[in-house]
Amino acid sequence: MRRRRRVQRGRKDYLLKREEARALVHERLEYFNKIYQFKYQKVFIKNLRSRWGSCSKKGNLNFNYRIIYLPEELIDYLIVHELCHLKEFNHGPKFWALVEQTIQNYKNSRLALRKIHIK
Ligand SMILES: [Zn+2]
Repeated sequence: MRRRRRVQRGRKDYLLKREEARALVHERLEYFNKIYQFKYQKVFIKNLRSRWGSCSKKGNLNFNYRIIYLPEELIDYLIVHELCHLKEFNHGPKFWALVEQTIQNYKNSRLALRKIHIK
């Protein structure tokens, strides 16, 4: 019984945090996409185990709900990173040039993010 209650509370917390993350992601996506004006399809907020975000070939964007625990500059970096994959589906120089248009210190953010392990 006790265990079950804890599981349910965990689930409720997750759903709440996921909705918080969704609102934040949409807000930042709209902000940055006023500049980029790329076309994306759906935005999913997921409980991902090993990544912060991804972009599908179909143009869907996925984000880990845990991004709400990150500092603002890292959230913005992640949003811009996935947004720029809509145009450049790789990590080549053209991709980083796009990212740099709005996140000048993207190298620092990229490094900082690598040091944070997803739990
Ligand atoms: Zn990437």
